[in-house]
Parts: sequence; structure tokens; C-alpha cells
Amino acid sequence: MQGKNPWKPDRPTSRGAAAYHEAVSKAEYYITILDELVKIISPKIRKKDIVVDYGAGTGVSALRLLEHLKVDFDLWLVDNSAAWLGKAYEVLSGNPNVKCFLLEKTAHGYSALAETVGKGVADHVISANTFHLVPDIDETFRGIADALKENGTFAFQSGNITRASRPKGALMVDDSVRRVHELSLDIVRNDPKFAEYKKDIDARIKANESQRKFVFPDPRNISVYLEALKKSGFEYQEPSFKLFRVRYSDWLNFLRVRRLQAGILPEIGGHEPSEKEESDRDSLITMAANNLFKELQAKNPLADKEAFTIEVAYVVAKKKSSESSQLAGKVALVTGASRGIGRAIAVELARQGADVIINYNKNEKEAMEVVNEIKKHGARCIALKADVSNFDEVKSMFDSIKKEFGFIDILVNNAGIIMDKTLQNMDADVWNKVIKINLNGVYNMTKHALPLLRKKGRIISIGSIVGIYGNFGQVNYAASKAGIIGFSKSLAKELGRHGITVNVIAPGFIETEILNSLPDAKKKELSKSIPLGNLGNPEDIANLAAFLASEKSSYITGEVICVDGGLML
Ligand code: NAP
Repeated sequence: MQGKNPWKPDRPTSRGAAAYHEAVSKAEYYITILDELVKIISPKIRKKDIVVDYGAGTGVSALRLLEHLKVDFDLWLVDNSAAWLGKAYEVLSGNPNVKCFLLEKTAHGYSALAETVGKGVADHVISANTFHLVPDIDETFRGIADALKENGTFAFQSGNITRASRPKGALMVDDSVRRVHELSLDIVRNDPKFAEYKKDIDARIKANESQRKFVFPDPRNISVYLEALKKSGFEYQEPSFKLFRVRYSDWLNFLRVRRLQAGILPEIGGHEPSEKEESDRDSLITMAANNLFKELQAKNPLADKEAFTIEVAYVVAKKKSSESSQLAGKVALVTGASRGIGRAIAVELARQGADVIINYNKNEKEAMEVVNEIKKHGARCIALKADVSNFDEVKSMFDSIKKEFGFIDILVNNAGIIMDKTLQNMDADVWNKVIKINLNGVYNMTKHALPLLRKKGRIISIGSIVGIYGNFGQVNYAASKAGIIGFSKSLAKELGRHGITVNVIAPGFIETEILNSLPDAKKKELSKSIPLGNLGNPEDIANLAAFLASEKSSYITGEVICVDGGLML
């Protein structure tokens, strides 16, 4: 087993940690919430994998993992609290596959995960009910990314994450904690039994605000977590939100354990309460919790006699491989990206780390589907409508790009159409339409892109083998695609001094809607004449586009590269 030195406790388990462990490991809602996370992560865990439980606490989540997973894997428990981890050690150290690691206190917070367990060692990191308590989420996620192997999974869950469309009545864990705190203070102010604490209560509330905030910080929106994942080199799936019923009796137990008492009522006895203060705090919290439960039953649509409802967010992310971050920080614009080859290029550029602008002409619905798919890769993505053959529409699209992004690094001229006829039957309209979209479109786009194109930028245009070899019934299309080649070779000479490369990809026959007019029999016949034996896929073009967009192609310019399965050999 790799990794740094594991930790061992040097004192007996604390009363608080033992009470917490007892309270949560018997609470039905807590176990159900954990089991959902285990269900998400378990299909990904293979024999001999290293799983890190970040914020392992007293080991309750680790126990669930070990109970559910039948494969032989190593489990590393990591926490910043020696007291909590001590309890986990007591419960789990008999298992030879389990190790504990303590996050060390530093000048700015706690050591990063990679510093604690080693770099690139973990296959999976899971975390239950932890990150809403972590102040610097960016830094923490970066440490987790560093500790993970490439393509390693990171899954976490929390009941304290906000979002816009939370169902009415579904609480966050902190909503109830905050309310119990308020109700406890009301009791102190109004109930003569607690009169001794009433004096100076406002001053004590103020003095203890930072401690309370430390234990129960203000909840953050899901977007904060997703943004931090993106910045730390993760791609994530759309988060899921699940509702769970929490029995009042379980919740009361949870609220009463010592740590929560310190978080809820530091006004009564501070961090180190006397025995009497502790017992008064306990009575106050019990009274306040019962008041809260009555309040919920009366007013909350998702609360009944036994339980109330909380919402828990589940997030699953994957550490990108170095290939998948080679375009990180780049902004790409792809024309005609609502479907076919343009769509595949846009998705691949995003998969490799670029932010992407999708251009489309008519099909907004399909364009938005591409935007949603791309966002799953953690990339920024917007869709802009413009007919590439219309100079003014292209200009106003670039005005928006300038406002939103300020610059671009990669322009892919992909939009194109066919309108096939022999010259004898081709009127001027059909000729002009194809030339206007396929060739003038490349001029309009590239002309407006130049002022925004950063040094070492990339211009990639999608030509066609028909532009080199010609084809029956395609004089307009062939001329437009041949025009793109002359345009690109000349521009490569003009822009070389800025490190900007200009290249053309010439696809053969690629399975997209543009080929819908070809009958299946014709496609079969075509396949027979292709040395590699089949028509191409949009991804075959996208792979080359991503290479031409990357640093790896920086000495290639003015080229026309055929991707045709050997058709034209
Ligand atoms: P496709 O499936 O028909 O998709 C064409 C795309 O271009 C769509 O996103 C469409 O957007 C967009 N578009 C059409 N006219 C536009 C305009 N005036 N302004 C902006 N966008 C416009 O075609 P494809 O097969 O992916 O072809 C993509 C490129 O590859 C074309 O340049 C084509 O000539 C070239 N190519 C394709 C093949 C092949 O076998 N498929 C072979 C060689 C070359 P809307 O849907 O929004 O209108």
C-alpha cells in the first residue's frame, strides 16, 4: 500500500465523539442518507482500489461502505478532528484494510488531502456531510484532485446545500439547527427557570457569533461547489437532490450531542461548559426542539406527527486526465455545432478542457441540448444564433462574444450545406446559396474573429475531399470547399508571425444528417469502396480538430488533412 504514515490516537475516545457516534449510527435517516451515497459509489469500486473517506468523522460512513461492499478494497479515513477520528479508530482498527489519517492544523486551516495521504494515490474519494463545514472549498477540492489518480472518482453529499428550486417544506439540516438556537434564546429570555442566563444575553450572543458560525456556517448554493469542482480539474454529473424523512426523536438525539450543543448554545457556558451549564443547555435544546417540531407540524407541508423532511444533495465528479485538460483555459467557437460534425467537435473540445461557444442557425432546441451536454464536462458554454452567410448577424454575434468572453483561442468553421445538381440543372440561386454559406461564411466568421483571436490561436475549417477531387453533381459544393483551401493556405502565410495556425480538415463520407439524402444501398456500396470498410463518425473528425486546436500541433499550418478511411488513396 502506498501513501504517507497513518495516524494512531494517543488518548482514549472522547465523550463527545462517542455520543455523536451513538446518536448518528442509530438514526434511521442518517443511515439512509449514507446508504444512498454508498449506492452511488459502490459500482465504481474495484478490487484493491484505495477509497478515501474525507471527513470520516467517527467512522459511521466507513462502516456502511464496509458492510455493503463485498470486494477487497483499502479504506483510508481522513478527518481534521483527532477526537472524532479516535472513535473511528476504536471501531475500525481491527480491519487490516483500514487506515486513519489526520489533517494537520496549518496557519491557514488544515493540510490538503494530497499532503496528508500522498499525491495521485487514491482511486476514489467520498465525503458525507462535510463540505458545508469547510471554509475554503476551492483549496480543499484542489487537494482532493491532487490526491486522486487520473479519472479517479469524487462523490460527496450534504444536507446543507441550497438551490433555487427546493421543494416547499424541504429543510436544510442547518435550517432546523438555526431555528432551535433561536427558540432556545427565546426560552432564556422568557422562562424564569433560566433567568440566570438572561442578563447580558445579547452581549454573549454577539461574542459567540463566530464560534456558532464556525460550527454551523451559512449554507452555500450548489453552484459554488460545482464551480470549485471545475476549477480543481473535475468534470461532474448533474447533481441529484433527494428527500429524506427525519424522525423527531432521532433529530433530538442528534441536536443534543455535545458538539452540537457547543454549536447551538455557546451563549450558555461557552466552549467548556460546567456540568450544570451542560445540563441546562440540554434542557433548553430539548424544549426548543419540541417547540420547533410543533411549529413544523402546524406549518410545514412536508412535516407530520412523526417526522419532518430534509433535502440532501449528491454530487459525483471525475478527475480529468491530463489529456482532458490540454485545452483548459481556452475559448473555442464552433459554427454549425447544433448537430453532426460541429456538435462532436464542440463536445470534444469541452471534454479536453475548453470553454465553448456553440453557433447555430435554426435549430435552437438541438443547440441547447449540446450546451447542456457540454456543461456536464464542467466547461462554460453558451449558444449563439447567427447565419454565417450574413455579415451583420455574424458581427453582432461577435459583439456578444466580446462582451461575454473578451477573446477566443480556437475558431472552427464547420457550418456547411449541400444543394446537389449537375451544372446543367443548377440555377444561380442554388450556386449562390452554397457559396454564400460554405465560403462567404468562412470569410465572415474569420474576418470578425481575428481581432478577438489570441496569440497562438487556431483556425480550423471543415472542407471536404470533394474540394480536392471533385464530385458528380457538386460543382457548387466542390468550388466552395476548394475555396476554403485557397483561403486557408493564404491566411496561414499572413498569420504565421502571430503563432496562429490555419488548417483544413477534409472529411470523406461521415454519418450525419447531411448524408440523409443517400439511400442505404448507396451507403453500403460506398463503404465497400473505402479501404477501412465503413463510413466515418463525427468523432473521427472531432479527434483531429482537437489535436489541431492543441499545443501539440503548433508546427502544422496551411495543411489540408483528409479523414476519409483511405477513400481517395
Ligand atoms: P449537418 O449534420 O447537416 O449539420 C450542419 C450544421 O451546420 C448544423 O448545425 C446547422 O445548424 C449548421 N448550419 C447550416 N447552415 C448554417 C448557417 N447558414 N449558419 C450557421 N449554421 C448553419 O452537417 P455535417 O455533416 O455535420 O457537416 C458539417 C460540415 O462538414 C459541413 O461543412 C460539411 O460540408 C462538412 N462535411 C461533411 C461531410 C459528411 O459526410 N457529413 C463530408 C465532408 C464535409 P442548424 O441546424 O441550426 O441550421
